[in-house]
Amino acid sequence: MTSSQPAPSPLRGLILVIEDEPAIAELIRLNLAGSGFGVHLERDGETGLAAVSRWRPAAVILDVGLPGIDGVEVCRRLRAAQDWTPVLFVTARDDEVDRIVGLELGADDYVTKPFSPRELVARVASVLRRSQRVTDAPATLQVGSVRLDPAERRVHAGDREVALTATEFDLLAYLMRRPGRVFGREQLLSEVWGYSAVAGARTVDVHIAQVRAKLREASPIRTVRGVGYAVEAGRAPDEFGAR
Ligand code: CA
Repeated sequence: MTSSQPAPSPLRGLILVIEDEPAIAELIRLNLAGSGFGVHLERDGETGLAAVSRWRPAAVILDVGLPGIDGVEVCRRLRAAQDWTPVLFVTARDDEVDRIVGLELGADDYVTKPFSPRELVARVASVLRRSQRVTDAPATLQVGSVRLDPAERRVHAGDREVALTATEFDLLAYLMRRPGRVFGREQLLSEVWGYSAVAGARTVDVHIAQVRAKLREASPIRTVRGVGYAVEAGRAPDEFGAR
């Protein structure tokens, strides 16, 4: 059931699915293919990593529990190699979510088994939109020492280039384009992620924390207690910010 070749000309991009349970892999494949994606399946971490290099997929759907090197290690190796291909984790348990986000692996999203195939396809489309979005504001944004170039999708904190995932970049860009305005978590989910999730508030908090950790003392993101987040120049990160 593992296809040896990806679809020749996927309309919406090639998705690499690394999943060792054949029934789940096939379910994902059918739903992605039915939505116009090309799909390549692999069953373990080693061959999955090789497939990322070989096929350059638009995104990777990555099961956490894999034989050999697990999904967490696959993602870690990708990021260590400066490969920022969007990764959507599929996890079997909620506590795996804690492990994934706690490790700051640069995962772009995750779904927990059992998941709705339609939801998974929507998440993939959303991740791709975020990673491929052509910006409507090409001018470089600057707040304090943080400089964000929407056209090149690069961020600098002073002279230091900061590697952000697609989601982290879009979140920071969204806030930096609207300095001084305070946004609630629900609003950020809707505007940046393009959907509202049941457990969404935590997703926002985790990504904010990752952006702050990467920008370090240059982070212009301020927590407004009980409300949400805002970008302001010259403001130190507050109680949630220092890490
Ligand atoms: Ca598995």
